[in-house]
Amino acid sequence: MSLIVQKFGGSSVADAGKLLHISHIVKAAREKGRDVIVVVSAQGNATDRLIERAREVSGEPPERELDALLACGEQASAALTAMALASSGVPAVSLCAWQVPIRSDGAHGDARIAGIARERVEAELGRGRAVVCAGFQGVDDGGDVTTLGRGGSDYSAVALAAAFRAEDCLIYTDVDGVYSADPRVCPTARRLERVSYEDMYALARAGARVLHDKCVALAQERGVEPEVRSCETDAPGTRVGPAGSPRGVTGVTRREREGDAYAAVTLVGGALPSLEAEKRAILALDASGIAVRGIDAQERCLTLYVERERSREAVCAVHDAFFGD
Ligand code: ASP
Ligand code: MG
Repeated sequence: MSLIVQKFGGSSVADAGKLLHISHIVKAAREKGRDVIVVVSAQGNATDRLIERAREVSGEPPERELDALLACGEQASAALTAMALASSGVPAVSLCAWQVPIRSDGAHGDARIAGIARERVEAELGRGRAVVCAGFQGVDDGGDVTTLGRGGSDYSAVALAAAFRAEDCLIYTDVDGVYSADPRVCPTARRLERVSYEDMYALARAGARVLHDKCVALAQERGVEPEVRSCETDAPGTRVGPAGSPRGVTGVTRREREGDAYAAVTLVGGALPSLEAEKRAILALDASGIAVRGIDAQERCLTLYVERERSREAVCAVHDAFFGD
């Protein structure tokens, strides 16, 4: 039977209403005769709240214990999702990483997935259940719980899709795809139908918080083509795969680091870096009265440093210079 991985982010599982809503999405896939592996993040900002609680008792929480604490967010979410599915008439079982198991190295807080055992998940699917896996978690060789880095549930989803050779890997979130810039920062940003692995990786490295770099690297290595889409509509989102946008410039993103006076605004695309693009970006910033404090060119990227307070405006100015047509 064909298998689909459906991953739901924190905002999509934030409360009871949302959990029941996503249950219908899972149910619809099952009604099409598909086996489903669901992957969930912690609810809403649960992970941030757990980090705050750790800091209340420790200035520098031991990383092993911090991972044990943070993994609770996804464990709770997975159990609640399985309950919501059951009450929508879908038999389901939740599994934490150590139950699958999803094995990782021991790098607490930023672990890498080393392997996924197939037996348990296959047995549950064989019993006609939807399998709800807690994202963001791994278990190391010593049996300790690890976490995969912030945003790591997408990485879990891609790893599961690869291990079970899923036909589709859908990453449901509160935006309907990957945009040419953050649509909350830049209202003229457009949704991209396709983004190449290389551009998505470069965007993630440059600060776009859509799919993180480890996730994209694994997808490329294993030939998984994740699709980022909204759980509010049925519309297709953005597919990340070997083929990207036909334009030479795919998107623009920004990164601010705490304590730095300047923010990095990065253009990403196959035609970059180039002197032509550099001139165009500088002229656009100049027209908005934004001074460029430095320029950096890397493969597929052109980065301009601007004063932090003006970085949102800078993203829009640069974006519109390349996507204004
Ligand atoms: N809950 C984790 C985080 O907030 C992992 C995830 O959401 O993907 O980073
Ligand atoms: Mg995320």
